[in-house]
Amino acid sequence: MAERIGFVGLGIMGKPMARNLMAAGYELTVYDIVGEPVEELATEGATAASSPAGAAAGNVRTITMLPDSADSERAILGPEGVLEGAEPGSVIIDMSSIAPSMSQKIGAACDDKGVKFLDAPVSGGEPGAIAGTLAVMVGGDEAVFDDCKAVLDVVGGNVVLTGDVGAGNITKLANQIIVAANIEALSEAMVLAQKAGVDPERVFNAIRGGLAGSAVMEAKAPMMLDRNFRAGFRIRLHQKDLRNVLQTAGELNVPLPVTALVQQMLGSLINDGEQDADHSAILHFIEKLAGVEVNRGS
Ligand code: NAD
Repeated sequence: MAERIGFVGLGIMGKPMARNLMAAGYELTVYDIVGEPVEELATEGATAASSPAGAAAGNVRTITMLPDSADSERAILGPEGVLEGAEPGSVIIDMSSIAPSMSQKIGAACDDKGVKFLDAPVSGGEPGAIAGTLAVMVGGDEAVFDDCKAVLDVVGGNVVLTGDVGAGNITKLANQIIVAANIEALSEAMVLAQKAGVDPERVFNAIRGGLAGSAVMEAKAPMMLDRNFRAGFRIRLHQKDLRNVLQTAGELNVPLPVTALVQQMLGSLINDGEQDADHSAILHFIEKLAGVEVNRGS
């Protein structure tokens, strides 16, 4: 009989990841606080649960894919949470990007109940979630990791154990520093070209194969040129990640000046009502400073 997996959090990332698990032959019990994606997956063969505890009940593994630390805490440790439904010996895999200290808090609570825990945030965005090629950064016990590797390989193209519980989210924070700074630099470059009267699309085509080229540039330059800021990855989620970066860096006395600056830009964009736009909308902040709009073929 196929293994049944609990899945909680069916947003931009969680829904395609759950679909890939079903396509790989796993049976799923799913839950989200929003009814629509639950009903959608139920029509595709998943079983709908009425709480996180219900999604976990009777399963060897339960995956959570939620926005932030408080959401993971509530959905896993709260009343009718995943841990309440999980049986001793089973595994909870939290794939949300949250503060490493929260992963450790959740891991300790799981330990107390004899439930195993991995923090396993991802990178690769919605396209990677749909294609099942996400980079998965895992923190936890090596034996638990080995035991879950086959499941993680369904949603991931590169699944790496980086250390104990919390190390997955430390790795994700490192990833988010690089992505944020790259998008900000790309925005400055595009705006400079535009104001100088040089077609930003030609600039992109000229530099993409050189040292400045990157996965971020390949994903975000076309969105900027198309003026398509549909998330993708929401501004408010990247702001949350940088908040977690700066909180963790503060605890370790690590100054991160550029990350702090980009965090301010994201805060300003949220005040402008762009919280649910893609993070490539950092471009809007730089455009406003320069008084230009980047456009293809200009
Ligand atoms: P999202 O906002 O689209 O989805 C989150 C889902 O969680 C929503 O459907 C929401 O209703 C649900 N939810 C919230 N609280 C809940 C609770 N208590 N119980 C059950 N469901 C609950 O977010 P997303 O883009 O799918 O991101 C999920 C996580 O993955 C975040 O931590 C994000 O930072 C990370 N991430 C996102 C991307 C991306 O490109 N979107 C890429 C890598 C990592």
